[in-house]
Amino acid sequence: MRTQRQVVDYSLQKRATLRELRTGRIGTYEACDASPYLMNAARYHGEQTDQRCPVCSRENLWHVHYIYGDELKQSAGQARRRAELPVLAMTYREFSVYVVEVCRGCGWNHLAEQFLLGRDGVTDPDPQHRREAAE
Ligand SMILES: [Zn+2]
Repeated sequence: MRTQRQVVDYSLQKRATLRELRTGRIGTYEACDASPYLMNAARYHGEQTDQRCPVCSRENLWHVHYIYGDELKQSAGQARRRAELPVLAMTYREFSVYVVEVCRGCGWNHLAEQFLLGRDGVTDPDPQHRREAAE
């Protein structure tokens, strides 16, 4: 997405959690604790990925996009379809997106990444126009 910025990737944390799971330092009941809300969000607003669940290896993971920001008012904290994000990015100046991966089979869930979207990130691709704006 064009206005995407300040991307934070959580794959290191995810690997650490999976390691703890494999060595038995945490139980599957802790790592696979997706709430009914998250399961519903995955079902109705999620995007299926082509990645297998790292815990049960039976189902593919789903990505759920949650949006947060003061401008969003009552929409803050809602799950949105990925296809809706570019429209929201042109509507609002700035908001955060949290991408949560979830397995609808075993309930594994983890924050995958976080980034900012919104009109404030739009850069004018036309240098001529940019020069005129600066004068
Ligand atoms: Zn699973």
